[in-house]
Amino acid sequence: MAFEIIESCVNCYACEPLCPNDAIYQAKPHFMIDADKCTECIGDFMDAQCASICPIEGAILDDLGTEVNPIGSLTGIPMELLAQYQAALDATYQAALNDKSA
Ligand code: SF4
Ligand code: SF4
Repeated sequence: MAFEIIESCVNCYACEPLCPNDAIYQAKPHFMIDADKCTECIGDFMDAQCASICPIEGAILDDLGTEVNPIGSLTGIPMELLAQYQAALDATYQAALNDKSA
């Protein structure tokens, strides 16, 4: 039972001081979590402190490989809505490209 920091971590240091178990440490190429120390903050906090502060959505996984701070967790925008916006942006961009080449 431990979380994992993955390669999208930008080494911002935000999580390291918040861990109640000193489980997070600086490493190369990104911060890491000592699985022997991480308790997922159970018994200390309602939410995992590292995932709560991390500015990079999806950078922290649980022991099943599930994102603890998934896309939308910072913005509060549901993934479905993000996908809709992205599709609309892509369509607009493609239309502009087509106009330019016509
Ligand atoms: S989940 Fe909690 S105990 Fe585990 S690394 Fe993150 S802050 Fe530390
Ligand atoms: S808060 Fe997130 S991005 Fe920053 S060091 Fe920790 S895992 Fe990496």
